[in-house]
Amino acid sequence: MRTLAIIKPDAVRKNVIGEITAKITAAGFRILGMKLMRISKQQAEAFYAVHSERPFFGELTDFMSSGPIVPIALEKDNAVEDFRTLIGSTNPAEAAEGTIRKLYASSIGENAVHGSDSEENGKIEVGFYFSEAELVANER
Ligand code: ATP
Ligand code: MG
Repeated sequence: MRTLAIIKPDAVRKNVIGEITAKITAAGFRILGMKLMRISKQQAEAFYAVHSERPFFGELTDFMSSGPIVPIALEKDNAVEDFRTLIGSTNPAEAAEGTIRKLYASSIGENAVHGSDSEENGKIEVGFYFSEAELVANER
């Protein structure tokens, strides 16, 4: 099963790409694709379209387009649920000890990482950032 992780702009600014990637691979995820990039406000709006009616949509899409991000296509058995366990609650104040958000997130908005919320969305979201050819080239 695949899931999409994103190291968000706050974590890139904190220089913890390596620390977060190490925790992901130590938890048994295989990296199928990874890139450092910026997305526009319009691309952030498209990616988070499901949240377009939420009061924090403007803040969220401004934040996600505020600096470089690192999308990572991951593969593992039970990847979606296991990755959400690894990152912890959306609000770092409620995240379990040792989770990526507990360790690196600043606030509910600037919360260090994204993780897909279903198997179907994992496929869609991996496809948002990676072509199939980019992933196949890295399979092992
Ligand atoms: P993600 O989808 O990024 O993995 P999530 O699934 O834990 O996070 P969602 O409910 O999907 O949480 O919200 C998407 C993102 O919107 C959150 O990660 C956070 O960055 C932002 N967000 C959610 N709730 C709030 C809020 N109350 N105020 C500000 N930003 C919020
Ligand atoms: Mg979500």
